[in-house]
Amino acid sequence: MSDKPEKFIDENGIRLDGRRVDEIRPMTVEMGVLSRADGSCYLEWGNNKVLAAVYGPRELHPRRLQRPGEALVRYRYNMAAFSVEDRIRPGPSRRSTEISKVSGEAFEPVVMKQFYPSAVIDVFAEVLQADAGTRTAAINAATLALVDAGIPMKGLVAACAVGKVDGQLVIDLNKPEDNYGDADLPIAMTEDGEITLLQMDGNLTVEEINKGVEMVKAGCEQIFAIQKAALLEKFGTAEEDEVLED
Ligand code: UDP
Repeated sequence: MSDKPEKFIDENGIRLDGRRVDEIRPMTVEMGVLSRADGSCYLEWGNNKVLAAVYGPRELHPRRLQRPGEALVRYRYNMAAFSVEDRIRPGPSRRSTEISKVSGEAFEPVVMKQFYPSAVIDVFAEVLQADAGTRTAAINAATLALVDAGIPMKGLVAACAVGKVDGQLVIDLNKPEDNYGDADLPIAMTEDGEITLLQMDGNLTVEEINKGVEMVKAGCEQIFAIQKAALLEKFGTAEEDEVLED
């Protein structure tokens, strides 16, 4: 692993990977990449490569897990053994169990579970290549996989982290910033700006958190735009959308 850099941001406000403090890494998405899944999305974000697959709604077994008034949404985040520098032991870990739980909850206000009582909607997020920010990358991919599966949703969910290096707030942390920075705050939100996931590693003041949330909001706006462009490409044109809104 590389050593801690002397400086994360140069005198011109440029980070080690050439970005400004409020700039996200380049993101590309491709929907419908898996023919056996009901919905899927492959997403690259910087050097992160993530595949999300959605299965369902389908009957839930064992039946005792069924919820009479709504569907159960299960989210499984997994890092492939080969996705990081040091091989990851296959199977669930404390980290992946925690990420799965909070990531699934990040979709709570948007997925209209009431339409599928007793059913299950399974979301699998597989990290193929990790380079910091994989839980947020997975959420961004899972949103599109859910839409691709035709799951009724009130809106999209986007996720991005904010952190602190050299005393400055930066969004979408890269690996050295994540490893050696002073804080890492992954956040997910709905299109209305409702925060559905917020975790924090390190220390930030209340003012820094407030400013960081605003920076993430701006980052998520960019992600929503990328997600919507992918949806328009797959499902229709802007003109058709306007007709639907009328
Ligand atoms: N990482 C790793 N091995 C692990 C867990 C994480 O090499 O067992 C790396 C990986 O590149 C990951 C980064 O550390 O993206 C940051 O991990 P963190 O737990 O902060 O989650 P993330 O930022 O990926 O959501």
